[in-house]
Amino acid sequence: MKNKSTADSAVKPKRKTAYAAMANNQATASVWTPDYVLRLQQNIQPCGCPGCNNASPLMQFRWRNHVRYSADMGCRKAAIEILNRTASCTITFSEGAAESLPELAADRLQMNQLCLHLFTAFRTEPTLLIYLLGRFIREAAALDTQQRVALQEAWLQPDFRQTLRLDFSRSHSPDDYPPVRLHTLRELPLWSLAEEDRRLKKLEKLKSTGEEALRQRWRELENTSGFSAAAQQEILGNYLFYLLCHHFFPGNPVEEWQKNFAVLCRRVLNLKTLLIVMSTEANMENLGALFADCHRKVMACWR
Ligand SMILES: [Zn+2]
Repeated sequence: MKNKSTADSAVKPKRKTAYAAMANNQATASVWTPDYVLRLQQNIQPCGCPGCNNASPLMQFRWRNHVRYSADMGCRKAAIEILNRTASCTITFSEGAAESLPELAADRLQMNQLCLHLFTAFRTEPTLLIYLLGRFIREAAALDTQQRVALQEAWLQPDFRQTLRLDFSRSHSPDDYPPVRLHTLRELPLWSLAEEDRRLKKLEKLKSTGEEALRQRWRELENTSGFSAAAQQEILGNYLFYLLCHHFFPGNPVEEWQKNFAVLCRRVLNLKTLLIVMSTEANMENLGALFADCHRKVMACWR
């Protein structure tokens, strides 16, 4: 399990510090810097893609009590770093001075952090992780903040992790989650690139597949992708880390959690589809460039 201990140490021991800072209303801001930001800060070569035009792809979200660094997925260089197979998917925590800005609600930060704990525990199994994120926000919606922490601590116990795995395998096929359906696939932003990019020829064929034959065709594509099954899992895991960090998943208010989860599923399916239709020219450079282009064209509407 790649860098698991690093991920654990980066996310878990500090959480009490983060909660305490929020609870004490102190004059500092917690600062979270995901590892893809650190790599981009070190990679100072200008990119010059249509997404950044040589401007920095780095972004920041600022509140009085919290600063979150991230990057624009629409930049090819940023997309390559975010999806990078060697990513540790860790967060560096620090503190900064509080500014005269609106405050980030403590329960919003807490839910985001709890989802990141789930990520750390299940990052090597992205389909299971997505199922658990959906189930966790459904159950947590009716709970107070302490009950949410207790629920998650119960989930992370070894015995209960196994129960969760069994629940998932009983109700879903791992290679069909999020569910792959023709109408869902046809709505993916990826189609906007298919007609003009010869690397996506397989995508056009998928479009003409009937609902009945779709699962069979999907499995064939998974097996003939230029990305190995292990690579597909790692890249999807890295993308989930980005989605959790960048969008503060599950977001705010509680009434929008389910909608935000549906968007997360569509985003993941979009990347998964790209991964399986890429074959001979499959490498991280090509993937990052295509995914950034796709993101730039239409992903912004999935906020
Ligand atoms: Zn760029």
